Formats: sequence, structure tokens, C-alpha cells
Amino acid sequence: MNELIIAIDGPSGAGKSTLSKLLAQQLNYVHLDTGAMYRCVAFAAMEQGIDPDDQERLGTLAQQLKIELVHTLSGDRVLLDGSDVSTAIRTPEVSLLTSRVSAAPQVRKALVALQRRLGEAGGVVLEGRDIGTVVFPQAQVKFFLSATAAERGQRRYAELVAKGVTVSLQQTISEVVARDLADSEREHAPLLQADDAVVIDSTNLNIDQVLTAMVEVVKLRRQELK
Ligand code: C5P
Repeated sequence: MNELIIAIDGPSGAGKSTLSKLLAQQLNYVHLDTGAMYRCVAFAAMEQGIDPDDQERLGTLAQQLKIELVHTLSGDRVLLDGSDVSTAIRTPEVSLLTSRVSAAPQVRKALVALQRRLGEAGGVVLEGRDIGTVVFPQAQVKFFLSATAAERGQRRYAELVAKGVTVSLQQTISEVVARDLADSEREHAPLLQADDAVVIDSTNLNIDQVLTAMVEVVKLRRQELK
């Protein structure tokens, strides 16, 4: 049987990054963080002083940038034109800008093409907002991870603090909510649950419990496809 394409979508802070990484490790699959790609475009736009409303220029930028997601023994790194931007793309400022930049259809077109190229052979876990609906609607396994806004804000806050970013909890929750609203209401490829996605609400579940549930779904799907 060919290796699967696994899509994990959901709002920010629902646990997508942690779980897609763990799931990929467990299956010996490649992990593709598509959010990191959108963040790279926003970061480069900020560095180059590009107007976030100039969608044409943003699209050209997205096409020209060399974005690499590298797996190393000390963790995943994001390289932008050869420079390590793994930490720089995670600031609250870049997060909010990313929501604006990712609304541009020209940017989405460039990054979706890249994501399809990297994922089409299978054996891959892709995390994002539109993987199961737009990038790979034919993915054999689709998950939609959710959790309450308060819980997601808490998790994002803990993540940022652990990375040494100075933020307040209240501000983090507001930003998570603002970003989800923007991601859900945008015209092009909004955050949407695919009809055939397995929905997991992780509010009251720990990482192990969610991972176990996901592995079980993948196992069943593999049997069905045999
Ligand atoms: O997943 P992460 O929080 O890093 O994503 C950052 C932003 O990138 C999201 O808020 C969203 O605006 C955008 N994004 C997107 N489509 C994806 C992945 C991320 O629009 N597939």
C-alpha cells in the first residue's frame, strides 16, 4: 500500500504542532508545518518593509523565497533563504501579521503549490488550516483538532514563555481569538472543518490521549484501504 497523506487542521493552540510532530515520528513520516511557511512570508515582508495590503508584491515574494523545513537531531528548523528563522517567526507580532499576509490569494497559491510538491508522494503529516479542504482534499486521513479559546490561549502562552518571549496571558488569549476570527472569516481558503475529518476536542485530553486516538484512526484507515 502507498504511504498515506495525513491532514491535521484546526485553530491556533489546539495542539496541532505537538501532535503532528509526534504522529509523524510514530509513523516514521515527514512532518510539514505549513504555518511556518506562511510565517516566513510575513517575516520577510516585515523585514523588507512590504505593505501587508499589497497582495501582488506579497505573492511575488512568496514565489521567490526559499523556504526549507529541516529536521535535525536537535529539532525542526525553519530556514528562509538559508538563514535560521525558527525563533524569529514565532513572535506575537509575526503571528498577527501572518494572518493578514495569508489572506492574500497570491500567497496561498504559491505556498499551496510548494506544499503539494512536498507532500504528494505520501508518508507525510501536514498541519495547517486548509490541508484537508484545499491542499490535499484527497488525503486518506483528516483530523480537525479543536479546544476552547481559553485553553488554547493558555497553551500558546506557556509555549511562548518557554521560548523566552515576554507576553501576558490576557494578551495571548486575545491574540489567539483575533487570529482565529481572521483565519475563519477570510475569503480564500478559510479555516474550515472538512466534512470527512475526524474531529478531536482536546480541551480535556492530554497529549498522550490525543495521540493514541489519532494512531487508532490511522490504523483503522490503513485496514480499510488494504
Ligand atoms: O499554525 P500557525 O499558528 O503557525 O499558523 C500561523 C498562521 O498562518 C495562521 O494564523 C494562518 O493565518 C496561517 N496559515 C494558513 N494556512 C495554513 C497554515 C497557516 O493560512 N495552512
